[in-house]
Amino acid sequence: AKCPANYVPLTPLTFIKRASMVYSGRPSVIYAGVSFTWRQTYERCCRLAYSLRSLNVVKNDVVSVLAPNVPALYEMHFAVPMAGAVLNAINTRLDAKNIATILQHSEAKVFFIDYQYVPLASDALRLLVASSKDGSSAMPLVIVIDDIDKPTGVRLGNLEYEQLIHHGDPEYTGEDLGDEWDAIALNYTSGTTSEPKGVVYSHRGAFLSTMSLIQGWEMSTEAVYLWSLPMFHCNGWTFTWGVAARGGTNVCIRNTSAEEMYKSISKHKVTHMCCAPIVFNILLEAKPQERCEIKSKVNILTGGAPPPAALLEKMENLGFHITHAYGLTEATGPALVCEWQTKWDQLPIDQQARLKERQGVGILTLADVDVKNKETMESVPHDGITMGEIVLRGSSIMKGYLKDEKETANAFKKGWFLTGDVGVIHPDGYLEIKDRSKDVIISGGENISSVELESILFKHPAILEVAVVAMPHPRWGESPCAFVVLKKTDTTEAEILAYCRKTMSKFMVPKKIEFVKELPKTGTGKILKVELRKVAKTLKIS
Ligand code: ADP
Repeated sequence: AKCPANYVPLTPLTFIKRASMVYSGRPSVIYAGVSFTWRQTYERCCRLAYSLRSLNVVKNDVVSVLAPNVPALYEMHFAVPMAGAVLNAINTRLDAKNIATILQHSEAKVFFIDYQYVPLASDALRLLVASSKDGSSAMPLVIVIDDIDKPTGVRLGNLEYEQLIHHGDPEYTGEDLGDEWDAIALNYTSGTTSEPKGVVYSHRGAFLSTMSLIQGWEMSTEAVYLWSLPMFHCNGWTFTWGVAARGGTNVCIRNTSAEEMYKSISKHKVTHMCCAPIVFNILLEAKPQERCEIKSKVNILTGGAPPPAALLEKMENLGFHITHAYGLTEATGPALVCEWQTKWDQLPIDQQARLKERQGVGILTLADVDVKNKETMESVPHDGITMGEIVLRGSSIMKGYLKDEKETANAFKKGWFLTGDVGVIHPDGYLEIKDRSKDVIISGGENISSVELESILFKHPAILEVAVVAMPHPRWGESPCAFVVLKKTDTTEAEILAYCRKTMSKFMVPKKIEFVKELPKTGTGKILKVELRKVAKTLKIS
């Protein structure tokens, strides 16, 4: 279609320019002893963008960064695309080999490294040199980000972030964006079920997802947002751009310890934060001396892994207001949200938690979501029982994986993006995940949802964390095996099994309860079931 002459591409970059005028004097970013206003943050972004151009960064170049939730990473979300480049925020919990693979695959032109990660990044850069046998692949330009509150002097190479800010031009307005479908960010999937793949986000998709999320979560202009979710995870589920859109305040922290989170919530009167459900355990299990009085209404958006109803209930009882969302890297972060219906307010809290456990409905700007039979692509009935593949359509779904046509083709069917998750649709239209396709346990021809078993097991008072996977069974082919982290160590396998027999159908009862000290997890808080399945193969049925 032909664009009218007055066409303006959709981009989240307009948010910060607007914030710098409308909310100029209000606090934008707070970190330790440092605080900026929106005017200052915008200027810093303009300066950084200018300096990147001076360092020969051009349209579509990839700028990688390895950093925790510090102001620099926040600013880069605007400055890098202002320079026409593409931001690649790398998961800080990856090992050097994975980081080197990403730098090589993305052909990163610049690599920003927080001082804390200099040893890890140096290892990654060494591997990158070694893998480029003839030295042909270009090395990225390295820039260290020192701590802005308490500079450490740690360096790698000659350049430091604040130098770029200092030498930049505060009047620089950024490159003209040609097309709203141009890339704004490149995010690698966490690789829970397969090799990491590079997902390209467009300015348009980022803009629309951001709009949906700030609207759906009723974020006001007074929002104080705590960065408990890593910004490297789908650009902080788009809230990097979202907080600027509302002119709210970003509270940046380096570590997500219970103490740090409680302290920040109390001191800055935090109103919004995002986190994976495992962070709930950190907040719930905090020692009395780590807790602080909470004076604000704290809204938490959770997702990334299924939150058991019992856990949601405990968090609500502690005074947090939870909204549940579901998404994936390929969908620019959250794609579904369990939108709350006021009529549910009347229900008892456990029933409310049970409703909230569902992943919900498509966000406002998602075109369509459905559950389909993957072979026939026919929709399943809305009965809350028939399982099928969750499929998505809309402008926030990725265009494709970087340099990987085969995987891109496999990711779509008849225009729908295949999520690889299995779910049901309830009669009220709300969707519920039953499993990742690869995690479904097929026992004697019956499909068993590991998510459902985990949710039941989690209600047992002695259980802190639980993950259920398939183990080989001579008669049933596969059977459930539960890996359990206990709160009290004197609980026995027989006790847990007796509880299972009381609370679930016979065929669902795990054939083995294996107690472990901790569960293997990815950098974004997902349980590595691949690892657990390997262990389950070596265990004996009880
Ligand atoms: P990766 O797929 O590599 O783990 P993502 O961060 O893209 O990286 O993870 C997306 C997956 O996380 C989804 O496909 C789904 O299995 C899981 N997930 C995300 N949110 C939820 C949720 N609210 N409930 C259950 N599972 C979720």
